[in-house]
Amino acid sequence: MAKLDEKISGIYQDVLKRNPGETEFHQAVLEVLESLGPVVVKHPQYLERKIIERICEPERQIIFRVPWQDDKGKVHINRGFRVEFNSSLGPYKGGLRFHPSVYLGIIKFLGFEQIFKNSLTGMPIGGGKGGSDFDPKGKSDDEVMRFCQSFMTELYRHLGEHTDVPAGDIGVGGREIGYMFGQYKRITNRYEPGVLTGKGLTWGGSLVRTEATGYGATFFIDEALKVRKDSFDGKVCTVSGSGNVAIYTIEKIHQLGGKCVACSDSNGVIYDEKGLDLELIKQLKEVERRRIEDYAATHKHAKYIAKGNIWEIPCQVAMPSATQNEINGKDAATLVKNGCIAVGEGANMPTTPEGVKVFLDAKIAYGPGKAANAGGVATSALEMQQNAGRDSWTFEYTEKKLQDIMCNIHNNCYETSEEYGAPGNYVLGANICGFIKVANAMVAHGLI
Ligand code: NDP
Repeated sequence: MAKLDEKISGIYQDVLKRNPGETEFHQAVLEVLESLGPVVVKHPQYLERKIIERICEPERQIIFRVPWQDDKGKVHINRGFRVEFNSSLGPYKGGLRFHPSVYLGIIKFLGFEQIFKNSLTGMPIGGGKGGSDFDPKGKSDDEVMRFCQSFMTELYRHLGEHTDVPAGDIGVGGREIGYMFGQYKRITNRYEPGVLTGKGLTWGGSLVRTEATGYGATFFIDEALKVRKDSFDGKVCTVSGSGNVAIYTIEKIHQLGGKCVACSDSNGVIYDEKGLDLELIKQLKEVERRRIEDYAATHKHAKYIAKGNIWEIPCQVAMPSATQNEINGKDAATLVKNGCIAVGEGANMPTTPEGVKVFLDAKIAYGPGKAANAGGVATSALEMQQNAGRDSWTFEYTEKKLQDIMCNIHNNCYETSEEYGAPGNYVLGANICGFIKVANAMVAHGLI
């Protein structure tokens, strides 16, 4: 990957100084700044107007206490976050993550990436992200409800369809969005579907939102394979995670003729040489909220590898769909050595900088998260459009819109990579294309 341009390296040093200890945020910033050298040569006004410095500083950061009681009456205190990063293109938009690893640095890395991702979608949405160090795993429905109600009791004052519109992420799915929407309605006495996305279908949700991130990532890689006169047909694939993004990535790959042989969770890996049984995975994960290990109890031919490394399983297409930094340099080298020709990031920043370098050097089709997984937020924006128009679209119509958006994102990234002399480098293409639109809006809005 390119080194930092000397005009930009001072800006990065300042980011390190001003945000100590936030390593994931540093990593996300560095990855974008590495692409911007040729951009500031072409557009010196971005330096004069200090656009990069401003883009690295969130417009607003909210940190709050979330007290709640478990089923035994014991009191717990968690920490809630909402980072409203950039509203140049529209209201802040981005998910909420509930996971014990959450701290400010994670939310800021996600919020920063969200700015460029949302810009790439072509929809009128700014960038934000939030969440809590609350762990929904092993909690009863009532405990999750009490936590969500307490979380929303503080967050509601910062939200609004023209201000900030959260959605789901790790640990936040339809159940959590439902509890938060209910509490928002109760506190404000307003039925405002436009205040959250990922809602249930009977109360303002959109068809295809559940499937959108996984389907979108698969559409992106399908486009990248087409550039190489190739397709998913007959390809052996591995998909990390077994949550929302992983499940619908597997579904779309199977629809396009590929065969997913492995998925995972934070405890281990399931390997099913015959191809994963998606209906069983949905039953285990979406209905019964069980662990992926239980797959092997029903399918004796499948192997469960406790603490296994999914990237050691040979595949032609890999779709990391669990969490950040799950593919390191060694894993990336193993994938390439085993014949992997495409990597599509359903997760956010799942590949370390060393891993990214391996993929770019090998010139495989590598779709970085901020481009490849933008289908989720794009479909959230479609949900907002339907809410504003009091409308609900069919599955086919909405899926076609998603596919067109992913095709546009792919083409815009590809064309930008060509324009900047690195055809097929989607990292460069996504960073530059996403950045320029936000930067131009910031210049137009003046110094705010
Ligand atoms: P879910 O909570 O539905 O699923 C997360 C999956 O990843 C689970 O299988 C989980 O396993 C695994 N996982 C989470 N954290 C870790 C970890 N530290 N180590 C190993 N495995 C882990 O989340 P989503 O599917 O919604 O999100 C997955 C990724 O996709 C995230 O990076 C998210 O930011 C990104 N994303 C999601 C979007 C969406 O629309 N949902 C949109 C764009 C990006 P376990 O159960 O063991 O924790």
